[in-house]
Amino acid sequence: MTLVLKDPELLEFRSLIDGEWVGAGVDAVHNPATGALLGHVAHLGAAEATRAVEAAARAFKPWAKKLAKERGAILRRWFDLIIANREDLALILTSEQGKPLAEARGEIDYAASYVEYYAEEAKRIYGETVPSHRPDARIIVARQPAGVVAAITPWNFPAGMITRKIAPALAAGCTAVVKPAPETPLTALALAVLAQRAGIPDGVFNVLTGDAPAIGQVFTGHPAVRVVGFTGSTEVGKLLMRQAAGGVKKVALELGGNAPFIVFDDADIDAAVEGAMISKFRNMGQTCVCANRIYVQDGVYDAFVARLAERVAALVVGEGTAPGVTQGPLITADALAKVERLVADATAKGATAVTGGRHHALGRTFYEPTVLAGVTAAMTVAREEIFGPVAPVFRFHSEDEVVEAANNTEYGLAAYFYARDIGRIFRVAEALEYGMVGINSGLLSSELAPFGGVKESGNSREGGPHGIAEFVETKYMLLGGL
Ligand code: ADP
Repeated sequence: MTLVLKDPELLEFRSLIDGEWVGAGVDAVHNPATGALLGHVAHLGAAEATRAVEAAARAFKPWAKKLAKERGAILRRWFDLIIANREDLALILTSEQGKPLAEARGEIDYAASYVEYYAEEAKRIYGETVPSHRPDARIIVARQPAGVVAAITPWNFPAGMITRKIAPALAAGCTAVVKPAPETPLTALALAVLAQRAGIPDGVFNVLTGDAPAIGQVFTGHPAVRVVGFTGSTEVGKLLMRQAAGGVKKVALELGGNAPFIVFDDADIDAAVEGAMISKFRNMGQTCVCANRIYVQDGVYDAFVARLAERVAALVVGEGTAPGVTQGPLITADALAKVERLVADATAKGATAVTGGRHHALGRTFYEPTVLAGVTAAMTVAREEIFGPVAPVFRFHSEDEVVEAANNTEYGLAAYFYARDIGRIFRVAEALEYGMVGINSGLLSSELAPFGGVKESGNSREGGPHGIAEFVETKYMLLGGL
């Protein structure tokens, strides 16, 4: 299958190492909606990963020495090119990932917004002067680029998860090596084509595909790498953290979630249904901040479930490039199997599928958008990240009870709640053990704000000035003898 692009050169299968395009032709990339083969990317391993890290290490000093304004100008050109090529990038993204084209366009804008923001922020990585403890000395605190950054990214946001790490890293003066997910390498490679066109120098931004464990070993073991950035499963995140411990590298992790979405009796129910739709069904439920457990208070439970089910039944499932489609396929057969297992467990233990609940008639990895009512803490769905279009709705009675249930998980990424009482809003927002809380909103993420989790959901923040912190080291200089 060939994609019809305005600029066919954006469809790149080779990897970018030190400004050269290398490899290709081994690992198949498929369209999850049709099964069509999109092409084969390179299967690179430890040797090429080492070459990429060493290229990034060589490129580091000249890149770090550039004026922040110069780095910012190059990043700004990358931003402009991403926006100018939005349609092609969105089509590549939908073809390998499955999300509806409108969502893919939204993701390209979202990904670009980080490049724009950090292009500007490059100039504002300020240091401090501190009142000294000695009359003859002055204290200066500078923030310097950390060095080579190695990033490993997932398939659910093939563009956004790259720019969220790479834009602040490059703005700070770091250089980078990236391994995208095997399901969605083509968006990453297209971004690399545009990075090169924008004038990002050879070796500053390298992208390679291939053997994940072998590349991961180099990324976490090579002495030149100073920061390991990872978005993906908690299991792989823990593995990378252990591997990186040997070199005492900074590890910035964005891992899984198990987001509670709480609707109190005093909430605006229509707004809560709207928020639940966005939070749950965006990207077919395949985001780490998707509502995973919807808790609804007794008094509004039945009304909420009925309205939610009505909206969910109206979703349009199909290939992401078809007009009107709001739900694409799941990414893989494994993803489908997990959703089927969770729904089977819940219904066996007494939940009912108010709408959906089955493999979709379209076959492949399509699943019916589903609302489960009567869900309880005894069901596996209460503990595991669903990563699919299934909304399990739990019933609760009191504020204390729901806050305790919401926090009863090893995860701590995003939480949401709908309420109008101002006292309750503060109490609940402060009591939720999460890195992010959406209050009367089902959507949180922005390049302006710190995205990230606590507990086993991660240890870093992406976005806003906080997003730079991962990529700079603090240097204390004491100037004496004055
Ligand atoms: P998911 O289950 O959502 O695919 P993963 O955590 O398995 O999440 O994948 C996220 C990223 O981590 C992908 O780029 C994948 O290739 C990579 N990855 C998986 N296993 C390893 C590993 N052992 N070492 C390094 N990277 C890995």
